Amino acid sequence: MTFIISSPCIGSVDGACVDVCPVDCIYSKKGDDRLFINPEECIDCAACEPVCPVDAIFPDDELPEKEEIYLEKTKEYNFDDSEPGVNI
Ligand code: SF4
Ligand code: SF4
Repeated sequence: MTFIISSPCIGSVDGACVDVCPVDCIYSKKGDDRLFINPEECIDCAACEPVCPVDAIFPDDELPEKEEIYLEKTKEYNFDDSEPGVNI
């Protein structure tokens, strides 16, 4: 399991999740419209989920159906070309 950031982050991107993540696994780069959790590095601690002001973060197996595209987008995201934090 991992956690996924979904569409409500777009337009917010306040970085609250970044501030509480103990392993710095929430990434972005210039041009992104939201943040991405690196599934290889996420330790599934769930600290980010309750601090998101727009309820954008879900465990991957609880992602609402209309947000499933964000699971695919996360799989396709190039974390090697990105950095932890809010870099948009
Ligand atoms: S679940 Fe924990 S480790 Fe994973 S992104 Fe959220 S705060 Fe970071
Ligand atoms: S806390 Fe929520 S809205 Fe803020 S950056 Fe993280 S996912 Fe986006």
